[in-house]
Amino acid sequence: MTSALELDEGALAQRLTAMGEPAYRARQIRAHLLRRGVVDYGQMTDLPAAVRGRLGSELPATPLALQRRRPTPDGQTTKLLLRAQDGELVEAVSIRDGDRHTVCVSSQVGCGMACAFCASGLDGVARNLTAAEMVAQVLHAGAHGAVSNVVFMGMGEPLANFPRLVEAIGALTDPAGIGMSARRLTVSTVGLAPRIRDLAATGLPVGLAISLHAADDATRQSLVPVARRYSIADLLAAAADYAAATGRRVTFEYTLIAGRNAEPHHAGALGRLLAGSGSQVNLIPYNPVPGLPFAEPATEAVRRFAAIVAGHGVTVTTRQERGRRVDAACGQLRRAVRGSDP
Ligand code: SF4
Repeated sequence: MTSALELDEGALAQRLTAMGEPAYRARQIRAHLLRRGVVDYGQMTDLPAAVRGRLGSELPATPLALQRRRPTPDGQTTKLLLRAQDGELVEAVSIRDGDRHTVCVSSQVGCGMACAFCASGLDGVARNLTAAEMVAQVLHAGAHGAVSNVVFMGMGEPLANFPRLVEAIGALTDPAGIGMSARRLTVSTVGLAPRIRDLAATGLPVGLAISLHAADDATRQSLVPVARRYSIADLLAAAADYAAATGRRVTFEYTLIAGRNAEPHHAGALGRLLAGSGSQVNLIPYNPVPGLPFAEPATEAVRRFAAIVAGHGVTVTTRQERGRRVDAACGQLRRAVRGSDP
């Protein structure tokens, strides 16, 4: 069933007219959806109650239905589990930090990249999400407060779903619609170097985060299979081209895994690799996944790692694992709900 979100104003007006409703209701509904993040017809109180009821059964507001909201006790982080019309489950995470409200969006159901440490990669990729399904995640999260930032960092590899990703970015930044600034959007990739150049060629000044996870090719290949296709040198060259084309500083994500890539010599190699590049590093202590033989390093080891990298003049941040209590590592909630955790 097509949703209201997938129709432009003209098509929505036609649909409403066919239901015997005035065409101007299309503008009202789109203002609720796109401007206010209202995804529930029940809350569109300027529509007559009978119309709201009919729309609910004949024209879903978005292609995703909210199945579960799971907040942390402090309410700062909320995991949303959404059901697509074909029954597939999609995850989004809403993270609040002061005035900032960031939504982490999934781009695929599952993921085909098979990173050794990741829940999303365990079952492979089921399908790409549509642009409307990506936008719907932002709207569902925005139903509880305006969204300031979007990161394509949830389930899936966004650059493996490239045309729909670009379409979703277009919809999120459309000044006649949601109207977000492209500078407040970030695409996170495991490192598909040719697609990084394609993204630069769109001219969209979105932020770019590259999941590096190692400073040498052998360690990276043991964690990230796609590293066999694109070397670290390929990635750094693509990142430099991206920064030059967009004027945006590239962030390198580095998941710290005990005994694999979190020793002081790994930190030294990372610092030397990125020194003088103008990029920054975001360290992410590993969030353990049931059934996978990986663990997070001790807090002190994380602090030492950060200090060594920073000693090379590289800007380093360490991500707080706020999502842990809501199973927020990508793919974990979906797997738990499907009962596929080993
Ligand atoms: S870490 Fe990212 S790219 Fe790798 S399998 Fe998981 S979702 Fe895919």
